[in-house]
Amino acid sequence: MLRNLSTKMKNKAIFLDRDGTIICERHYLSNLSDIELLPGAKKALRLLKSAGFLLIVITNQSGIARGFFDRRFVQSAHRLINRKLEGAIDDFYVCPHSPEAHCSCRKPKTGMLRAAAGKWKIDLSASWVIGDKKSDTMLGRDNLMRAILIGKGSSCRSLFNWKPAAEIILKNERNIMRRM
Ligand SMILES: [Mg+2]
Ligand SMILES: [Zn+2]
Repeated sequence: MLRNLSTKMKNKAIFLDRDGTIICERHYLSNLSDIELLPGAKKALRLLKSAGFLLIVITNQSGIARGFFDRRFVQSAHRLINRKLEGAIDDFYVCPHSPEAHCSCRKPKTGMLRAAAGKWKIDLSASWVIGDKKSDTMLGRDNLMRAILIGKGSSCRSLFNWKPAAEIILKNERNIMRRM
């Protein structure tokens, strides 16, 4: 009983990839002026937030380890992205390592996910992952979350599916409410 109660008090979240999911993919984005929201992202994220989800970005940024840009640049980029999204993002987690470092945070490893879930008291089974790569959806499935692969190829010209993605999640939420 107690366990059920505490589960109910937990938060639900949407774990979002950044590049190719919220903003247009730029190969190792290193200019703030290259930041462009993907079509439909802002509206969809606003809808999901009003449905009670925390919005948490988890992003691999090996460009830091490679020396293409530094942590401070990434922080500025995240401030700008969140300004464009009118503050919808609750938190940003960044893996700065190269794949060769075999760290515990680089997706599809779970370091960032675990850190966020602990800090924000997130019930993963009520949460989702949205990304444009298999490493994003793998992270979701390996951790018993539902995952949505959005778009393909991830340039700003490619087909984007933010509207249906938001609708899938919101429809699922309505079904849960109906069963309660
Ligand atoms: Mg991506
Ligand atoms: Zn890492």
